[in-house]
Amino acid sequence: MIESGGRDDLKAVVNGWRAAGKQVGFVPTMGNLHRGHLALVSAAKAECDRVVVSIFVNPTQFGPDEDFASYPRTRESDLEALRKLGCDLAFVPTPDVIYPHGTKVKTVVAVPSLADTLCGLSRPAFFPGICLVVCRLFHLVNPDIAYFGEKDFQKLQIIRAMTCDLGFSIAIRGLPTLREADGLAMSSRNHYLSKRERAAAPQLHQALVAAGAELASGRSVAKVEQHWQKVLDEAGFEVDYFSIRDQETLARYGDGHDRSLRVFAAALLGRTRLIDNVAVPDFLVESAPGVNE
Ligand code: AMP
Repeated sequence: MIESGGRDDLKAVVNGWRAAGKQVGFVPTMGNLHRGHLALVSAAKAECDRVVVSIFVNPTQFGPDEDFASYPRTRESDLEALRKLGCDLAFVPTPDVIYPHGTKVKTVVAVPSLADTLCGLSRPAFFPGICLVVCRLFHLVNPDIAYFGEKDFQKLQIIRAMTCDLGFSIAIRGLPTLREADGLAMSSRNHYLSKRERAAAPQLHQALVAAGAELASGRSVAKVEQHWQKVLDEAGFEVDYFSIRDQETLARYGDGHDRSLRVFAAALLGRTRLIDNVAVPDFLVESAPGVNE
């Protein structure tokens, strides 16, 4: 596996592969790799001739009071895991490689119709920072296919729109969320949870699944959302949102969109922000008499 932190090395290697007709897959990450990340790498390996994984804790997507400084950085074990999986190139840049003119750039890359809701409301720096870094990484890596997790479903939809609107010739793949045995979505931030919080955390996923199923019972979307938000609040979560949305547009259900629904939630458990989402099976939506009340 090639390890590179430099723009020019990366470009030379990838250009060589492309000149030889190789298809290049790319998995952007912030490191502290777990099985969810590694599943993306395996999917890239299965589909592409060469795979690049980036590890970069991106400063521009963190707000001033967020966990940029304390975000877990585990470079050596990450590189070892990537080597074992047969990753071809690990790109581990420093901030000056990604932001050679500093992080206070003049350009904003924004997808407001998808970003000004859900996580975007409480984390205003988050999606502009992600769009900026993904744009820069796409230009540097120049892959054929890029892989993202449905765990961050709003981000996935924003990147799909940005890639299309800005004319990147990159196919975007979204892969299912990997979970612990008790349903908790794998996340680098799960390490922050105390023992007691870790025991409570799977209730978030349980609530999402139950809310989806409840739509079939005839309860309205608003009642289902209110009920499960209350259940989670009473279980000790501080719920940011619990919301049933059209999965393409992220619009609230009832705004005249197709019935392709997904339940989204974000909540603080102690000081740890957890996010998760699940698709509502179509047959449940179709059989839900009160879904649009
Ligand atoms: P991050 O390191 O948090 O920026 O995540 C890098 C990529 O891994 C993103 O595309 C995430 O959506 C994806 N990812 C994170 N957690 C999971 C998971 N539990 N299952 C699948 N993909 C994940």
